[in-house]
Amino acid sequence: MQFKKLKKENIMNSLNLNDLFKLKEILENKVVKNTDNISDNYQLAFLIMQLKPTIYDVERAYNLISPFIGLKIKKINRLNSIINLVLTNHKKTTNRNLDRINWSIYNKCPIICDGCYNDFRNKQLSILEIKEIVSKLKESKVMNITISGGDPLLWKDLYDFLEYTYSLGLQIGIDTVGFNLDKKLFFNENIKYIGLPLDSINKKIQFKMRKSRFDFLSNFKENMNMINQLNVAIKINTMASKINLHTLCILGEYLNDNYNNIFWSIYQWSPIRAKLFTQQEFEITIAQFEEEVFKLKQKFPNLNINSKNNEERSFNHILIQNDGTVITFGQFYGEVFYLGNILEDNLNDMINNPLISRQSTKFKSSIIFQ
Ligand code: SF4
Repeated sequence: MQFKKLKKENIMNSLNLNDLFKLKEILENKVVKNTDNISDNYQLAFLIMQLKPTIYDVERAYNLISPFIGLKIKKINRLNSIINLVLTNHKKTTNRNLDRINWSIYNKCPIICDGCYNDFRNKQLSILEIKEIVSKLKESKVMNITISGGDPLLWKDLYDFLEYTYSLGLQIGIDTVGFNLDKKLFFNENIKYIGLPLDSINKKIQFKMRKSRFDFLSNFKENMNMINQLNVAIKINTMASKINLHTLCILGEYLNDNYNNIFWSIYQWSPIRAKLFTQQEFEITIAQFEEEVFKLKQKFPNLNINSKNNEERSFNHILIQNDGTVITFGQFYGEVFYLGNILEDNLNDMINNPLISRQSTKFKSSIIFQ
């Protein structure tokens, strides 16, 4: 393990959790010997926040960085703002039941998106473990599961999973690239919606956003024709970045002219797992995002636009990864936070982790698509 690299990056992206816990131990020892090193204090505080923090851990993280808060160091200020958010949030805490959960259920995807949120963990859970988790979710009163990927349609156990969730009365949303979409998927009525990605109707722009050897738009049209004949809601997922922001209005016109009763979800492109050069190519500000979305909402009232910027999405999600680890996200690069393991840990503890926003839309049942 390259601790130097770990220390530099200080993130959980594709890194082994054991390594991160070991790094934390090493830093604990260093900080005991020297309490004045800004870098060590910051790294340790960040790791404490990243690894299943309790409210006492959050206070400890604050104590580690508090001597340096007045120094106007960007990283320290950002960590301080996360800590403040969590501490304020915690005061409002009451135990709540989670209504919906996101699950990256499979670790393969047929396309490549720059800035993909997925970690593609090596260990893929077996269908038996998956069923155990589904039962656990049901016991905890989770009623809606959104599965994504990789692409769930590539997963050999998908139908078994759907049968099982149907037998327990759970509702499923499926976010898929849609290359293998088949009518037989809808044999059970618990599929509440299908989410399909489309970021532009311009081939070059679409390819820049999601690299694929297939023709994205033709595939999208075929899928829309098929789903339209079934009684399933359709959600179009669009990431807004520097690459496609100026063309979203054209995409809106296309959707508006060709489809009825669709739900258009527009998300600000996220830099959480993207390297610096990708961030420079794709990243837009919240203000740029909101300005464009405002215009789109005015122009296309029939498209049921639901938009979320990165601040709104931060600490909102509880995401089960394909190996059973559970994480939530912040807003900026590297802000991935480990909440526990769904097979081993208590779900309620994860849901009520101080990092999770008490205003998280996942607690509400009235909104279908979030
Ligand atoms: S479709 Fe989803 S899982 Fe696949 S690369 Fe894109 S963001 Fe990642």
